[in-house]
Amino acid sequence: MGILDGKRILVAGVTMDTSIGFAAAKVAQEQGATVLISNFGRALNITKRIAKRLPVTPPVLELDVTDADHLAALPDAVREHVDGLDGVVHSIAFGNPETLLGGKFLTGPWDDVAQAVHISAYSLKSLAIACRPLLSAGSSLVGLTFDATVAWPAYDWMGVAKAGLESTARYLARDLGPEGIRVNLVSAGPLKTLAAKAIPGFEELDSMWAGRAPLGWDNTDQIPTAKAICALLSDFFPATTGEIVHVDGGYHAMGA
Ligand code: NAP
Repeated sequence: MGILDGKRILVAGVTMDTSIGFAAAKVAQEQGATVLISNFGRALNITKRIAKRLPVTPPVLELDVTDADHLAALPDAVREHVDGLDGVVHSIAFGNPETLLGGKFLTGPWDDVAQAVHISAYSLKSLAIACRPLLSAGSSLVGLTFDATVAWPAYDWMGVAKAGLESTARYLARDLGPEGIRVNLVSAGPLKTLAAKAIPGFEELDSMWAGRAPLGWDNTDQIPTAKAICALLSDFFPATTGEIVHVDGGYHAMGA
């Protein structure tokens, strides 16, 4: 018996089998969930191929979280496969690596910052509201952050977008709590995914981790992060919302 037996989960943001969303979908299926995944644009065909590597090939939905038509159509697209959702994973971020990341903080242009905040922070609210008609008391929304309480090398405007995401999660927790819907984030350490490899200077961030994290850190292992996502999706955190759970080998708790 799994901790997600009978649950219906949408994982938004799966491109490759290195995607954190892919690992979340895999662990969720192993724990008994019926899973749907989504992605957008040209990568949709890649996602459809990658989906076959999951234990059960899930339906792949098209969802650009900045597209109002996609968001409006989401409930009906989901209902073609399941009659509601018990959990939603937001595993989505984007910031232009050429203008916003890798030491570009002082020159990052507003249009690109606005896009990063729209896709990486505001979209948690957009996704939650799009899914709201499918959710009921006991449902859980989980997103992914990279600790935004401090300034990091290279992360620059994505750090600002993550600070927005963390705040968005708290306000969503406030406004959806009365409906019995929980909203939490997992703060993962650096993992070698497509998004991470696009960050110029990611290695600098990454190189600090293994030495300082008391539990050590494997930047190729998405499973600990996926397990925490699934724990938050499960009924084992019934009174937890507005929380950020660190899955970083303990890095965040060390002073040096
Ligand atoms: P990933 O595999 O590149 O996943 C990011 C996903 O976001 C991709 O599927 C991407 O699609 C999708 N996306 C981008 N713009 C979108 C849009 N407008 N609408 C819908 N989907 C969109 O990288 P990941 O590392 O697993 O990232 C997942 C989450 O974990 C992100 O929030 C990331 O910031 C967070 N996180 C990552 C790390 C890390 O070190 N990797 C650490 C902490 C937190 P395309 O591939 O088609 O662009």
